Amino acid sequence: MKVLIIALDGLEYDLVVKERMRFLLQKTYGKIDISPEYCTLVEGELTPYTPIIWASFITGLPPHKHKIRDLWTYGKVFDSIKRFPPLRAIKGKRKFVWRLGLKPRTPNKRDLRATTIFDVIEPSTAIDVIGYNPWGYMEKLSSSKTIDEYIHGAKKLFELKKKVVFEEIKKNWNLFMAYIHFTDAAGHCYGFGRLKTVYRAMDYFVSEVKEIVGADTLCLIVSDHGMEEERTKDGRGTKLHIHSNHAFFSLNIETDWRPENMTDFFPKILEWAELN
Ligand SMILES: [Zn+2]
Repeated sequence: MKVLIIALDGLEYDLVVKERMRFLLQKTYGKIDISPEYCTLVEGELTPYTPIIWASFITGLPPHKHKIRDLWTYGKVFDSIKRFPPLRAIKGKRKFVWRLGLKPRTPNKRDLRATTIFDVIEPSTAIDVIGYNPWGYMEKLSSSKTIDEYIHGAKKLFELKKKVVFEEIKKNWNLFMAYIHFTDAAGHCYGFGRLKTVYRAMDYFVSEVKEIVGADTLCLIVSDHGMEEERTKDGRGTKLHIHSNHAFFSLNIETDWRPENMTDFFPKILEWAELN
C-alpha cells in the first residue's frame, strides 16, 4: 500500500478536536503523550523538542540512539567541541561562532547515520523533513528580526511548499512525507483565535492532497507536540506560547492500533507499505 504522511509541526490535538476539523480528523485519531526523553529544558521546564521527536519518528530509534538533540549543528567536530565547559559558558554562543565564520545548519541525514523510513521504502519522497532533508530556509527564517517578519516568512514558505507538494505527489512513490513548519510557527505567534484560521487552511490542504492520492493510499497525519495558548509566569501575566506535551495522529483506516511512542510509527509504516 502507498503511504502518505503529512507532518504538521506543533498541531494541537485539543484545538483540532474542538474545531472539528473534518479532514484532519480521519477514521482513527488520537493523542500521543510525549515522554521526557523527547524534551529539552526551556525556562526550567521540560518541553517537547521538535528535532528529537521527528528523528525518532523517521528512524524508530529512541533519542539516545539517534543522538539528534539540537535544531542546529555546526558539524560533528565542532558540535563536540562547543560542549566543552569554556565555550558552554559563553552566552549567545550562536552569534559568537557566527563571528568565527562557522554557520550553523539544521541536522540532516548525514548527521543521522541511521536507517530511516525513506531508506527502507522505495521509491520514497521526503519534502523538508526535519532531521533528514537539508533545511536551508530555517536558517534564513531564524534570522528574522521581528515576530511579524518571522511569521510572514513562515507563511510564505508554506505557500511555496504547497506548490512543491502538488507537483511531487503526482510522481512515482510508495512513501511520501511532507513536513509543514507553519503550524508550529503560527502556534508560537498567534492566539488560538487566529490559529484556527491556519488550522482551517491545513484542513483544506489535507483535503486537496488526499483527493489527488485517492482512497487506496494510507494517509497518516501526525504532529510532534501541540501548543498551549498561554501560561502566566511569575503572576505577571506574561503570555507564552509553549509546546504542549501531547502529539496528534490520524489515519484514514479503521484500526485498533494506537501509537504510544514516536518510535512506534517506524515498524507500522513498514507494515502498511508491505500490505497489498
Ligand atoms: Zn515541533
